[in-house]
Amino acid sequence: MVIDQNLLNELSDFYKELDKAINRIEKYHKDNMNCGKGCKDCCIDGITVFEVEAKYIKHHNPTLRNFKPVNKKGCPYLDEKNECIIYETRPYICRTQGLPLRWIDDSGNEAVEMRDICPLNEKQINVESLPQKQVWYIGPFESKLASLQFKYGKGKMKRVELKTLFKG
Ligand code: SF4
Repeated sequence: MVIDQNLLNELSDFYKELDKAINRIEKYHKDNMNCGKGCKDCCIDGITVFEVEAKYIKHHNPTLRNFKPVNKKGCPYLDEKNECIIYETRPYICRTQGLPLRWIDDSGNEAVEMRDICPLNEKQINVESLPQKQVWYIGPFESKLASLQFKYGKGKMKRVELKTLFKG
């Protein structure tokens, strides 16, 4: 598979910027978060990613071609210790897992801020009372990623199931 080097570079920069932004939020909560290495609750079956992220993961994990998952349930990239075997190149959706989240719901008459957090963390972290700077805002990074997909997908917003990346 030939992959555009510019895409690899732009996505790599995207993930660096994303991880920095996540670290800024995480530092407020790391002592109170129950999720982490070995926790697989968010690693469910059926996750989809933009095609650009799929290409990035495939490019950086060539040894996984035709690999066989060790677990029958959940994401196929969990190993026997429930750790992610593509962790360094995992997609956007996997990087914010566990954080307190906020987003704007403008489906009604007026825009409302919504919040949520993983059930494993909700007892220790009261997501509703946190200042905004301590909550991951869903929007800006999704837009950046969508624009990369638009650019390198020639206008097609194609999504790919994570589990299909190394089949065939
Ligand atoms: S890619 Fe890794 S972090 Fe993402 S759902 Fe699968 S195992 Fe979990």
